[in-house]
Amino acid sequence: RDEYHGCRARLAQAIAELQRDAPFPLPQIELRRGAGAYICGEESAMLESIEGKRGEPRLRPPYIAQVGLFGRPTLEHNFETLYWVRDIVQRGAAWFAGFGRHGRKGLRSFSVSGRVKRPGVKLAPAGITLRELVDEYCGGMAEGHTLYAYLPGGASGGILPVAMADIPLDFDTLQPHGCFIGSAAVIVLGQHDRARDAALNMMRFFADESCGQCTPCRVGTDKAARLMAADAWDNATLADLGEVMADASICGLGQAAPNPIRCVQQHFAHEIGGGAA
Ligand code: SF4
Repeated sequence: RDEYHGCRARLAQAIAELQRDAPFPLPQIELRRGAGAYICGEESAMLESIEGKRGEPRLRPPYIAQVGLFGRPTLEHNFETLYWVRDIVQRGAAWFAGFGRHGRKGLRSFSVSGRVKRPGVKLAPAGITLRELVDEYCGGMAEGHTLYAYLPGGASGGILPVAMADIPLDFDTLQPHGCFIGSAAVIVLGQHDRARDAALNMMRFFADESCGQCTPCRVGTDKAARLMAADAWDNATLADLGEVMADASICGLGQAAPNPIRCVQQHFAHEIGGGAA
């Protein structure tokens, strides 16, 4: 991604070092620079971008494991997964599984931002709760702020209230609450913040980042953002719109964009007025 100049330079340097002193025959390694877009994190949009096209998600099937980069079967991995492969191979699966809390296994890199004393990327046990993450890894809440709400998984992972800050953070633990951990980009809100403002901010972000190829997402995110800016939300229209976006969008961006709406309606109804959805 073109904005990440520093990461690219570091990666190029590391690859050059590896190639100078290769411990075994290396495969061909090629770094491709993309123009940069949120949607290019979606696996098939990333392939389009690598192929030099607009970053737009592909319709599936076929899945990229069958027809991927330049029409070839393709394996695409999350970078965090690859990061742990060497340690797990060297130290064994039991070593990695020895980390974890509340019945979960392994380590996760949580990227914590918002109203905490020490934001940043925190390597913490999978299954840690938000309250533990803030208290033990972030130095607690920032001066003058008390915990009000949090986003467990970036822009589309939903918003939960402080009353739900003791749920283990991991894959599958948040789904029953209509949320997901995604890439563990945790955002913490304090009592001076409003969940509806965070939700509106995210919807505007989605409207901006929508690749525009399907109508429910291109038009829906923009319309939702306008409806969410009203003092009292039109909950019935927003719920209807959210259902269409979730059902009829091609990719995860449009499908998950209504998540923040649903969470605010469910957990922060006192902020939005407007009656039942
Ligand atoms: Fe593009 Fe949105 Fe459709 Fe995804 S859901 S393909 S981002 S328009």
